[in-house]
Amino acid sequence: MKKIKIYEGKAKTIFKCEKPNVLIQHFKDDATAFNNKKKATIPGKGILNNFISELIMTKLSDLNIPNHFIKRLNMREQLVHKLEIIPIEIVIRNIATGSLTKRLGIEEGMVLSKPLVEFFLKDDKLNDPLVSEEHIINFGWANTEEIDDIVSISLRINDFLCGYFLSSNIRLVDFKLEFGRYWLNENPIIMLGDEISPDNCRLWDLESNKKMDKDRFRQDLGEVDKAYKEVAFRLGVLSEKEFKKVLKDEI
Ligand code: C5P
Repeated sequence: MKKIKIYEGKAKTIFKCEKPNVLIQHFKDDATAFNNKKKATIPGKGILNNFISELIMTKLSDLNIPNHFIKRLNMREQLVHKLEIIPIEIVIRNIATGSLTKRLGIEEGMVLSKPLVEFFLKDDKLNDPLVSEEHIINFGWANTEEIDDIVSISLRINDFLCGYFLSSNIRLVDFKLEFGRYWLNENPIIMLGDEISPDNCRLWDLESNKKMDKDRFRQDLGEVDKAYKEVAFRLGVLSEKEFKKVLKDEI
């Protein structure tokens, strides 16, 4: 059966599913940075992100944190709940780096006294600008109650993930989340969407501070695939042998 594509993003494609209110999220090997100015293909990245995101979303479900993940279908696809996407990216930071240090001249690597929450408007044409809660409410992207839910869920996720990654000797520096409304009997529930993977988290090795995430691609540090594999292996989602076999089977 030919799948019907309903949306193609930079790293993922969304397909229709025969079940109502359920979609198929397909993970690609494509990587982009600087608003699409830099592009590459990282062999196997989609497989690793599919498995890493499955693991984390499942852990979040165990903690009763509402998220769109239903089940993994195969090496590159997962079944997810259909959400009405809120056009805001929420970034939680534990250590200063990236756009924060550039924007405010803050010292790179400074450990923040408490997690810093930032909102960005999802708009490629405008380069995803930083926005305040006031902007979000004023322009109707989400209401006060929804923002409160988004922030409290994001901080819970941060608390959990900091400890979870730490147990694999990985420091969670910062990450980006996306939320949507899941409609249940006319009542919208705020639910986490998208993915949680080295594409949208900054992950540093605890001992060496070596970058194990998409910054290796953004900053031309090399060994991007190796870093993603290392995260997956440390979290125990795939072994080197299984991963090699999956890649070979795809050819
Ligand atoms: O670039 P910046 O420092 O604002 O990124 C903060 C966090 O959000 C990083 O973990 C980065 O990987 C993630 N991010 C993302 N998608 C974007 C922008 C940032 O996943 N469009």
